Amino acid sequence: MNAGEADGGPAVRRLDAWDEERLVALAGEYETPLYVVDLDRVAENCARLRSAFADADVKYAVKAHAGQSVLRTVREAGLDAECASAGEVERAFVAGFPGDRVQYTAVNPPAGDLDLVVERWREHPELTITVGAEDTVDRLHERGFDGRLCIRANPDVGAGHHEKVSTGANAKFGIPIERVADLATRWAEEFDLVGVHAHAGSGISGEDLSAHRELVRRMGDLAREVESRVGPLEFVDVGGGFGVPYEEDEPPLDLEAVAEATREALGEVGATLAVEPGRYVVADAGVLLTTINTVKQARDATVVGIDAGMTTLLRPAMYDAYHAISNLSGAEDAEPIDVTVAGPICESADVLCEHRPLSRPDRGDVLAVGNAGAYGYEMSSTYNSRPRPAEVALSGTTVRLARRRETLTDLTALEQ
Ligand SMILES: *Cc1c(COP(=O)(O)O)cnc(C)c1O
Repeated sequence: MNAGEADGGPAVRRLDAWDEERLVALAGEYETPLYVVDLDRVAENCARLRSAFADADVKYAVKAHAGQSVLRTVREAGLDAECASAGEVERAFVAGFPGDRVQYTAVNPPAGDLDLVVERWREHPELTITVGAEDTVDRLHERGFDGRLCIRANPDVGAGHHEKVSTGANAKFGIPIERVADLATRWAEEFDLVGVHAHAGSGISGEDLSAHRELVRRMGDLAREVESRVGPLEFVDVGGGFGVPYEEDEPPLDLEAVAEATREALGEVGATLAVEPGRYVVADAGVLLTTINTVKQARDATVVGIDAGMTTLLRPAMYDAYHAISNLSGAEDAEPIDVTVAGPICESADVLCEHRPLSRPDRGDVLAVGNAGAYGYEMSSTYNSRPRPAEVALSGTTVRLARRRETLTDLTALEQ
C-alpha cells in the first residue's frame, strides 16, 4: 500500500462523501448558517502535500482559514505557518507554532504590523520576514530588525482562476525580479538573508502547469544568481495556488505531477524548495450548512432563499466561484428542478448560483455547500448587520464548537 494514500486519504473529498445524516443533525443542534470543518480531512490534505513534496518545506497560508482548530491541526501535521498580517502571526503563535516555523510576508504593511512582528521577533529570533518592497527594509531597519529576511520577487507571471486572485504579475506584490539579485547582495550584509519568494496567485491546475513552471523556472534562475553572489540560501519559496476541483466533474490535482514539474523547472539549487498552499489544505475539509427560508416562483426562475449569503460565503459574489450545493432534506427520488439560490443580503451579487438543479427544495430544508473550508469563514463579514455564523470542528466522532455564532450584541459592541 502506498504510504501517502494511507495517511492522505483520497485526492479529493466531494460534497456527496460527507455523512448527510450527521450534517443534518449538526444543523439541528447548532442552527444555521453553520460552517463545519473536518480536522481529519485537514490532516489528510497536509499528509498528501508532505508526501508529494517530501524534501520541501510546506508552509500553510494561514489566510485560507485562520481558526485555531485548523492551525493546531496543521502544526501537528508538520506544516509551517505563512502569515500575511500581524494578526495571522499572533494566531500562529497562539496555536503553538515555534518561531522557526513562522514566516511573515509583508504586503504594504501598516506600521502597527511591523511594530508587532518585530516585537515578536525579539522573543522568537527564528521568525522569518519576507519583504516585497524596498522601503519595507528601511522600515525594518528603523525598528532594529536584523534577523532572517526573505525577498519576495514579482516574477511577472500570473496565474489564477480569476483576475482577482492572480498576484504574480500584479505590481502590488513583490519586487521586480530583475532587481532582486542586486538587492539581495546588499541586504545579505545587513540581514540574515535566508530565501527568495514568489507567489503567482491561486489556480495551479493539472491541465495547465505552464504558468507555474515558468514562475518556478524564473525563481530557480534567481536563486542560482543570488547563491553565486552571496552564498547558499536556505530556501526558494515558489508560493501556493494549488487548485482544488470546485466543480463535481473536475479531476483533482495530481500533486505528484505538480511536484515533479516543480522540481524539474527549478533545476539545481542549493536552497530547499518551499511551497505555500492555503486553499488545498482546507477547501474540501469544510462545508457550509444553510436553511431554505423562501421558495418563490419568479418570472423566469425558481428562487430559493437561504439564511446564508455573500456575508457568509463571499466567493461566488467576488469571484463568480462555483460551489456544489445539495439538498440534504430533499427526497432522494425527487426530480431536481432548475433554481437560483440567493441569500438575505440587499445586493444583487448575493446569489450563490443560478440555473442549478436542486432536488425539490422546500422551506426548512437544509442545504450543504461544498468546498467551503477555504476563504469561507475568513472572508465573512457583518455587512447588512448580519452576525457571522458559527463553526464546528469535527475530529473522529467528536464535535466541538470552534467559533460561536455572533450575536446582535456583538454587532454593536464596538460602538461608543
Ligand atoms: C494567499 C497566499 C498563498 C496561498 O494561496 P492558495 O491559493 O490558498 O494556495 C500563498 N502565499 C501567499 C504569499 C499568499 O498570499
